[in-house]
Amino acid sequence: MTMISVAEAQQRILSSFSPTDSISIPLDWSTGHVLAQDIHAPVDLPLFDNSAMDGFAVLAQDTCLASPEHPVILSVVADIPAGDGARVNITHGTAARIMTGALIPGGADSVVMIEETDYGSSQPGDPIPGRVAIHKPVEPGTNIRKKGDDIHSGQIAIKKGSQLRPQDLGLLAMFGMATIPIHRSPRLAIFSSGDELISLETPLSLGSIRDANTYTLSSLAELAGAEVIRLGIAKDDRVAIIRLLDQAVDKNVDMIVSSAGISVGAFDFIRDVVNQHGNLDFWRVNVRPGKPFAFGNYRNIPFFGLPGNPVSAFVTFELFIRPVLKKMGGSDDILRPRIRVRLLEDIVSDGRESYLRANVEERDGVLFARLTGHQGSGNILSLVQANALLILPSGVKSLPAGTNLEAMLLQ
Ligand code: AMP
Ligand code: MG
Repeated sequence: MTMISVAEAQQRILSSFSPTDSISIPLDWSTGHVLAQDIHAPVDLPLFDNSAMDGFAVLAQDTCLASPEHPVILSVVADIPAGDGARVNITHGTAARIMTGALIPGGADSVVMIEETDYGSSQPGDPIPGRVAIHKPVEPGTNIRKKGDDIHSGQIAIKKGSQLRPQDLGLLAMFGMATIPIHRSPRLAIFSSGDELISLETPLSLGSIRDANTYTLSSLAELAGAEVIRLGIAKDDRVAIIRLLDQAVDKNVDMIVSSAGISVGAFDFIRDVVNQHGNLDFWRVNVRPGKPFAFGNYRNIPFFGLPGNPVSAFVTFELFIRPVLKKMGGSDDILRPRIRVRLLEDIVSDGRESYLRANVEERDGVLFARLTGHQGSGNILSLVQANALLILPSGVKSLPAGTNLEAMLLQ
């Protein structure tokens, strides 16, 4: 099999996935999910004309001569707390005490804030005064939040494809929407492979290492909106690998992701097994780190074989799986945004399209980048210290300090 480019691999992978079905979930659970339909306002917001201040609802005309020296005296004919739905009317010469958010009484066209009356130092619980002295004129409309000012019924409020944020939940609650149409989370089964791998519960023995990839990859998948089924660790033998792959099939997942055992080692059986019970669309991508990446299907379930080295597994997940999860989840922005950064040091690679661990920092409006250290594909510390991956196009083996290039920001 020939080695393909990152762009071709991405394109071939993405074209074989579509967005998942729409389902309804409680508003409470919807943070981070992606809307499956446009949301049109079902009501006007505000729902009714209401007061923006604690004060007195008046007819603006009555206040036009008011000043602190010559206040206008109005008789207070009603008290309107927030939530009171009783219809009240005021006429010339009268006012109603009103609280923020309360329904504007009929006849009133403005609200004088309490601080501009002789009632300014009132305390919670004070009874309504018989009369109020107004110290300042108000224009019609002052301190009134008009019905529909924010949004009119029927107007589009949040677009399909938006990932729901806390403020979106607030608006949906104002609309009275208890359930929200979102895309079902893609289901991803994951396992690690290798005779050397042990779980966190098992005591270390010489030659063995902890299974790190299950944690990194599951976490990446969950942040990209997937529901993850962790299958554990397969030994380097065909039967053990098939057993976990079949478990994934039984669980009816949307995709299977494995790490390690996909290269050219004497114990790398995964490609063999997948070819036997499915097929490999491609194996090997012109990328550093992450060359021995495979994509295909196992018993008709899409299969991703990631390299075992922790940084290779991370980078290939970012490049080839995260965009799929975003697409399946119905998201509008599938690829991570890229930024332009300026190198603070010379960098080298081997001519493959390279993703180098770096730290990007803004100084005087320019984003500067410096490598975080050792770029070996097993060196997870330099990935932990990085906030970006610098992208060297294929064919480029070195770049001098001062060069501008593209980078991908990590979370
Ligand atoms: P392989 O592709 O199986 O040759 O693995 C490449 C390297 O990645 C080896 O050094 C493995 O020990 C290491 N490796 C494989 N799987 C994991 C894992 N789940 N966590 C940490 N390191 C791993
Ligand atoms: Mg191995």
